[in-house]
Amino acid sequence: MPTDIQYEIERNHKSMKVHNFSAGPGILPQEVIAEAAEAVKDFNGIGLSLLEISHRSAPFMAVMDEVESLVRKLMGVGDDYGVMFLSGGASTQFFMIPMNILDTSGKAAYVDTGVWASKAIKEAKNFGNVEVIASSKEDNYNHIPKFENIPGDTSYLHITSNNTIYGSQYHHFPESPVPLVCDMSSDIFSRPLDGNKFGLIYAGAQKNMGPAGTTLVVVKKDLLGKVNRNIPSMLDYRVHIENGSMYNTPPVFPIYVCMLTLRWLKKMGGLTEIYKLNQAKASLLYDEIDSNPLFVGTIKTEDRSMMNVCFLLKDSNQDKEFMEETKKAGIDGIKGHRSVGGFRASIYNAMPIESVQVLVDVMRDFSTRKA
Ligand SMILES: *Cc1c(COP(=O)(O)O)cnc(C)c1O
Repeated sequence: MPTDIQYEIERNHKSMKVHNFSAGPGILPQEVIAEAAEAVKDFNGIGLSLLEISHRSAPFMAVMDEVESLVRKLMGVGDDYGVMFLSGGASTQFFMIPMNILDTSGKAAYVDTGVWASKAIKEAKNFGNVEVIASSKEDNYNHIPKFENIPGDTSYLHITSNNTIYGSQYHHFPESPVPLVCDMSSDIFSRPLDGNKFGLIYAGAQKNMGPAGTTLVVVKKDLLGKVNRNIPSMLDYRVHIENGSMYNTPPVFPIYVCMLTLRWLKKMGGLTEIYKLNQAKASLLYDEIDSNPLFVGTIKTEDRSMMNVCFLLKDSNQDKEFMEETKKAGIDGIKGHRSVGGFRASIYNAMPIESVQVLVDVMRDFSTRKA
């Protein structure tokens, strides 16, 4: 049986295209990678690498300005929102959010839709009262749970728009009488988005926006400065907003690559166009899952993610053989998360529909042979 290394050799030999279905860090547009590589060698023709110039130099300040303005345009938010590029990953936001906007005596409502949501809940409990108003944990997170009402005196409602591990996604955001706080790490900028409907949006860059190392936070400024605790400067949104994400040295390279990716997105026609493409990719794959007798999807149809498509072989004894077939076709990164098993095909913005078609073809061939 061929080993992974043999596959590698075979692939290089044929210079076969690799179809990158990785859940995160995830696929980036080829042209963004090429441009980023060039900037590492010589940034904008200045004779220096992006990695060795001051973050306060004019060429990098221009990057900061452009990335912020791209974010504002894509979300449609104005000066009443602060836009920050921070470090520490989305996981740091799990505690930074309550630290900044949940008073010790206050209450926050959370919806538990998976691993990331429950981590956010755990961290928020360090700062105030947390009420989990809905959860799909009992059903191994196979759907987005509904909630009846939000308790009075709640500071904010926290949701996770796309559940990367389980493959569920909100297709309609809940109406919330309190500020809506949303972890959009794995579906940011995958569809039209009105930032003004949210109190706070955050996203680790490495799923759908750039490389690992920076996290976008967009917050309505009037939510800030209301808590009764001392916040260390590095964890205080107001400090970062006042300093244009340059209170300390920002993660310059990840921010630059985010800028390139958002430029690419704009060139592709923005969120409306990318949404059409994402819909086409997701339908192609889900249609195959639903019509192929060997496979089954793991998430309730109406809550299925357009970004992370989770599915199983009905007979898990075939998993290994199917996995080998996908590898032969140049497919990488579709092994399911251990908490779900089976397969997870992450089809982020930069994934071409041709790669999804390759996966669908392998599934179809596999079922023909098994029939
Ligand atoms: C990956 C992920 C996180 C964690 O991101 P880090 O940047 O690794 O901390 C949080 N939330 C969601 C929805 C994710 O997909």
